[in-house]
Amino acid sequence: MTSISRRDVLKTGALGGAGVFAAGAFGLPFRKVSAAEAEDLLKTQQKFVYTADVMCPAECGIAVNVVDGVASAVYGNPRVPYNAGTMCAKGCAGLQMVYSPTRIKYPMIRVGERGEGKFKRVSWDEAIAFIADKLTSIKKRHGAESVIMDSGDVTDRDTYWRLGFGFGTPHCTEHGAICDTPRRHGPKLMFGGKRVEPDVMRPVLVRQADGTLKNDFSYKTKLIIYTGWNPFTATRINYESRGTVGAKQAGAKIVVVDPAFTNTAAKADQWLPIRPGTDADLFAFMLRYILEHHSDSDPKRRYIDW
Ligand code: SF4
Repeated sequence: MTSISRRDVLKTGALGGAGVFAAGAFGLPFRKVSAAEAEDLLKTQQKFVYTADVMCPAECGIAVNVVDGVASAVYGNPRVPYNAGTMCAKGCAGLQMVYSPTRIKYPMIRVGERGEGKFKRVSWDEAIAFIADKLTSIKKRHGAESVIMDSGDVTDRDTYWRLGFGFGTPHCTEHGAICDTPRRHGPKLMFGGKRVEPDVMRPVLVRQADGTLKNDFSYKTKLIIYTGWNPFTATRINYESRGTVGAKQAGAKIVVVDPAFTNTAAKADQWLPIRPGTDADLFAFMLRYILEHHSDSDPKRRYIDW
């Protein structure tokens, strides 16, 4: 079987532009369909099942193509204004939640060394007892406060936190600590009031002065710097992904600061693969450069514009 690295795929996606994917370049196992086979395919029982993607809180409208009773493809539902036919990469890969050969279907406990990939299947009772023993032993040796309970955001936080507090640790945190909470409070501290949002992050469905709703695909953003953010794969805000593409088509430059060559980096004008954890150093350097090169009296060297 042909081996394709994630980097190869992303690179080719970037070269192909507009998402054109040169599958043949990798020798993927696609084959031509004969006229007779095509006739048979046309006779298959196909239908679309309309539902919502619940893999993230965006809950995009989707249309699942069901062929002979088997879900075979997922598309964005063009009649749902929120995502208007679009989907993110995670949503498109949603069928793998059902069909992936590596999907985890039951509890497993590692029996080999870390990274060796050796696991044994266990019952739910065994798995729960295993975790309980581990937690109790850590509590006895280091105290309950040595454990952090981290969870998803509001969708599933409360049950995890209940367990954490019941165990005795006050260190119960959630995904929001590195997501929307700082996104709200950072601008509030800097600008004093309501958070500012670039136009690539606003919904495309915009309320007009006359009260009607209309899609607005215009973008004025000129430069986007993504740091620690990979919106083409990891955001629930689907209009940010499409807004980024829209802004780029309107002439914006995109810079991605990320040690990994992500989907977003593949579409960027500049990829800065810094060493992990040095984001603050990079921004400190940029700030220093601005302060050292700024001059109020020289319009060509003016960087600070309040
Ligand atoms: S943003 Fe992506 S993962 Fe989230 S609901 Fe939409 S398609 Fe699914």
